[in-house]
Amino acid sequence: MKGSAVSRLADRVVVVTGAASGIGAATARRLAAEGASVVIADIAETGGEEVAAKIRAAGHRAEFVRCDVSREESWEHLRDRVNDLFGPLDALCSNASRQATIPAHELTRPQWDEGLAINLTPLFLGVRTFIDDLRARAGNVVAISSVHAQFGLPGYPVYAAAKGGLTALVRQLAVEYGAARVRFNAILPGPVLTPVWDDVDEEGRRLSARATALNRLGAPEEVAAAVAFLASDDASFITGANLVVDGGWSVRKESR
Ligand code: NAD
Repeated sequence: MKGSAVSRLADRVVVVTGAASGIGAATARRLAAEGASVVIADIAETGGEEVAAKIRAAGHRAEFVRCDVSREESWEHLRDRVNDLFGPLDALCSNASRQATIPAHELTRPQWDEGLAINLTPLFLGVRTFIDDLRARAGNVVAISSVHAQFGLPGYPVYAAAKGGLTALVRQLAVEYGAARVRFNAILPGPVLTPVWDDVDEEGRRLSARATALNRLGAPEEVAAAVAFLASDDASFITGANLVVDGGWSVRKESR
């Protein structure tokens, strides 16, 4: 791993939700490589087990626990398993997500509720489940939001509402639990090449790349590096922050 402090997360216990794929998987790999014991929490059992096995094969600590982040009882099960596997939690990366491209006028009420249940409510459920551990260990939470929290793009009303809600909730929680020394931060990725881009053709990818200042899509590892920083003591005075990791997508205004 190039240029990172390898043991920044030694002896830390970390949960990464949605870590069977994409940014979550890269984050699990990075945090484990920096010394953390990582729990991969996902509904995708095969993918989650594979990510955990590869991390262990590289000589680090990781276990998969099946968890549907939209369900309260899943979080309770996760807390019990994390405790049994590695002990109390030091950091949570709330990353799991599923998005549907449906304009507001076509969105049904159940679709709206489900969108919030998967993309916003898990941060609340995760904090409520693990707050005792986080308080006891001066832990932290990193929520993966999106540039959609700050910019409108056609077809993503519930996703944008959820991601905007995450950034507001992170600020709120930072204030609420700051005195208990628990930090809360959000990362707002721009276009990052993960399986969610599988349905986007070459031209679509090229256009998205050109919308960034760096003229390329991001790699999941580039978001993982930001999570590792925020989860570590290198970010000990950072809480309530929204860190944009988008290759300059949100500051680029002229067309190329
Ligand atoms: P991905 O689809 O590759 O991975 C998402 C993971 O979440 C999958 O492993 C999936 O099984 C899991 N998941 C879905 N529903 C779940 C549930 N109910 N319970 C538990 N796990 C569940 O996505 P990604 O591109 O790696 O995105 C990761 C995060 O980054 C998401 O929060 C996404 O909104 C955000 N993001 C991604 C991009 C991008 O361009 N890839 C841009 C901005 C923000």
